[in-house]
Amino acid sequence: MALFYLYSGFTLVAYLVKKLRDYRFLPVGHLVEKRALKDNFYKFKIKVGHLKWRKIQPGDYVFIKVPNVRGLRELHPFSVVNKVGEDGVITLAIRGDGDFTRQIQSLELGELIQFDGGYGRFNTLITQNDGDQLVLATGGTGIVPMLAIIDAHPERLITLFYTVHTAADQIYVTQLEHWAATRATLTVHVQTGRFTPATELQKFTGHRTTFLISGPYALGQSWVRALRQRRIAASKYYYEEFNW
Ligand SMILES: Cc1cc2nc3c(=O)[nH]c(=O)nc-3n(C[C@H](O)[C@H](O)[C@H](O)COP(=O)(O)OP(=O)(O)OC[C@H]3O[C@@H](n4cnc5c(N)ncnc54)[C@H](O)[C@@H]3O)c2cc1C
Repeated sequence: MALFYLYSGFTLVAYLVKKLRDYRFLPVGHLVEKRALKDNFYKFKIKVGHLKWRKIQPGDYVFIKVPNVRGLRELHPFSVVNKVGEDGVITLAIRGDGDFTRQIQSLELGELIQFDGGYGRFNTLITQNDGDQLVLATGGTGIVPMLAIIDAHPERLITLFYTVHTAADQIYVTQLEHWAATRATLTVHVQTGRFTPATELQKFTGHRTTFLISGPYALGQSWVRALRQRRIAASKYYYEEFNW
C-alpha cells in the first residue's frame, strides 16, 4: 500500500512539474489580429514579449496552445508565415482541419497564447548549402514555411512548385505573384493538381541546388523518391511532413 501511495505521489508531482513548466516557462503572447484568408483558413498574429530568448528562423514552426480555453490546451505545431523581427509578432496561417484548428478560429483578440519553438531544419539546410539555388516543393498548408523562406532570401535563386487540390485552396498567391514580378531571382509555379517531380527535376542538373519540401505525406514521398532516383545527396534535400 505504501508503494502505491509512493508511486501515485511521484506521478502527481511529475504531472504538476510538467504542467508548471508548460504554463510558467513557455513564452506568452497575445492574439493581436485574426483574419479569414478564405473559408476555413485563418491568419493569426500573436505578439510575444521576451522573444529574444527564442530564435525563430525563416521556415521554422512553433507549437502553440491557449491555456485559458478548454480544448485548446494541448500544444499543436504550425509554421510561421513571416520573417519574425524585433517587434515580436508571429504570423500563423491555419486551416481548420480538426478540433483544435477549427476551435481556434473563434478566439477573441487579446487572448493569451503560449508557444514553444522555433523548430525545424529548413534554415539549417539553407545555411549549410550557402550559395545554392533553392527549389521549394509544396502543397496545401505546406506553403506557409516557404513564404517565410522566400521573404527572407531575396538574394537566392528560388524556384517554387506549389500544388493545390482546387484553385479555391490557394493562399498568398497574390503575394507570391508580386514577389515573382519584382524579383528576377524568383520563379513561381502554382498548379491545381500534382506536379511530376521526375519531369521537373530534369531542369535542375547542377549540383549547387538545395531542395526543400513541405506538406502532405504523398507529396513529400513523390519528390523524395524522384530526388533519390536522380541520386541527389541527402545533404541537399529535406522534407518536412505536415502530419500531426
Ligand atoms: C511541422 C508542422 C507544421 C505545420 N504547419 C501548419 C500550418 O502552417 N498551417 C496549418 O494549417 N497546419 C499546419 N500543420 C498541421 C497542423 O499541426 C494540424 O493540422 C493540426 O495540429 C491538427 O490538429 P486538429 O486537432 O485541428 O486536427 P485533428 O483532429 O488532429 O485532425 C483532424 C483530421 O485532419 C487530418 N489532418 C491533420 N493535419 C492535416 C494536414 N496538415 N493536412 C490534411 N489533413 C490533416 C487528420 O488526419 C484528421 O483526420 C503543421 C504540422 C506540422 C507537423
